[in-house]
Amino acid sequence: MNSKRIRTLKSGKSGNGPVAYWMSRDQRVEDNWALLFARGIALEADVPVVVVFCLANGFLGAVRRHYEFMLRGLQEVDEALAKKKIPFFFLSGDPGKRIPEFVREYGIGTLVTDFSPLRVKRRWLEKVAPEIEVPFFEVDAHNIVPCWEASQKQEYAAYTLRPKLYRLLPEFLEEYPELEANIEFPEISASSGKLETFPKIQENSIEALLPEEFREENANSFSKPEYFEPGETAARRMMDDFFARKLESYFTLRNDPTKDGISNLSPYLHFGNISAQRVVFELEKTKADPESKKAFFEEIFVRKELADNFCYYKLFYDNFDGFPEWARKTLNYHRHDRRDHLYTLEEFEAGKTHDPLWNASQKELLIRGKMHGYMRMYWAKKILEWSESPEKALEIAIYLNNRYELDGRDPNGYTGIAWSIGGVHDRAWKERETFGKLRYMSYEGCKRKFDVKSYISKYST
Ligand SMILES: Cc1cc2nc3c(=O)[nH]c(=O)nc-3n(C[C@H](O)[C@H](O)[C@H](O)COP(=O)(O)OP(=O)(O)OC[C@H]3O[C@@H](n4cnc5c(N)ncnc54)[C@H](O)[C@@H]3O)c2cc1C
Repeated sequence: MNSKRIRTLKSGKSGNGPVAYWMSRDQRVEDNWALLFARGIALEADVPVVVVFCLANGFLGAVRRHYEFMLRGLQEVDEALAKKKIPFFFLSGDPGKRIPEFVREYGIGTLVTDFSPLRVKRRWLEKVAPEIEVPFFEVDAHNIVPCWEASQKQEYAAYTLRPKLYRLLPEFLEEYPELEANIEFPEISASSGKLETFPKIQENSIEALLPEEFREENANSFSKPEYFEPGETAARRMMDDFFARKLESYFTLRNDPTKDGISNLSPYLHFGNISAQRVVFELEKTKADPESKKAFFEEIFVRKELADNFCYYKLFYDNFDGFPEWARKTLNYHRHDRRDHLYTLEEFEAGKTHDPLWNASQKELLIRGKMHGYMRMYWAKKILEWSESPEKALEIAIYLNNRYELDGRDPNGYTGIAWSIGGVHDRAWKERETFGKLRYMSYEGCKRKFDVKSYISKYST
């Protein structure tokens, strides 16, 4: 494995105990560089590898639909790990506290984790590192080109990152080796016995594993992600189906929300149930229309990794101050423009605006747990148009995106919203009220692009 994919968070001499992979962003057994790295050092030290996951409560506004999707995916992880004789430990609570406790109690010799640019994970790492006395590594298992290698600064736009990614691609697009099993299923127990009782995630009902506030009796009615089957197997199926049925016309249909033309891979990529690198390997093998292949590659590689670049280098990726200077200036200039419509969070949430197209997109989000990509732009831009300030619009869009999108709470989401509301990675356009020089989108514009009535009727109930 390319060693540039790995960073040392804490150096030192490994202990004699197992190597633990603290799984967080990349919830899969196949094609996982972080797990493969952990397995590699375990083999060298002749110790077993184990995997630990810590369920944090209230993760960035996640609700039952996300926990349920994630936990069912983790049950599959547990099952697949068991086949490789790798124990899976399931903790809950604050990972900043629980992971160091786990490392101490189980005599872990080396700790490995996966990479996320989001502040929440970075804070956990900052808390964990000083509390442990063993080496600690971070592996970018999510991006094809590791985020810190792709660029050392916040990129201005896709056109500035693209050549860097393309140049580095051959170095990092390497085939995954097979994950070697442990020689035998290791019997590992806690030194004090304090942490002995991990729920066996496979044997428990989801209900028992969920944080209390999201159990049946307390959950809201939009809880079930009915349209998306969780887990690694389902992710592969979704990918295969996309390549078999939809990729050929991706270029022409991807911006039409009335058509089933996009991959629907985002929930799986978000939870790490499938690796983008695997999708790219499979994409290369297909014989589909070259324009469609190129367009899809641009999204899953350039746009996706650009989002990680933004969140990694712009610590305030979810704040007005994170917008480029030209956008802040123009939004400030138009701050007090008269708005024809103003809505509260509750009105937006319930899809009760004057605009049937916007309401339909919100309904799509509530019902399916995934809004079509084209509508996401319109949706966020209208929240800017109908909110009292850009700050309020940003707050509402992030809240709804994180709460209802299965793929929410992701760098792609923060960046997509910052693009729509704050001109991030975009340029100045013709000036108009409220938006200033930000790119504008309208109902009439949508009517020219797709059958608006058909989309509205699909989600009008
Ligand atoms: C306001 C707004 C909010 C968004 N929120 C999210 C979010 O919370 N989570 C999320 O994953 N994406 C988000 N996006 C980006 C994009 O809309 C979704 O990734 C895409 O619609 C997911 O559907 P798909 O997998 O079927 O897309 P496909 O078109 O099949 O694309 C395949 C993959 O490429 C990547 N991709 C596609 N478009 C983009 C993009 N514009 N930016 C970055 N990566 C992209 C995603 O990983 C996606 O799964 C948002 C965009 C906007 C404008």
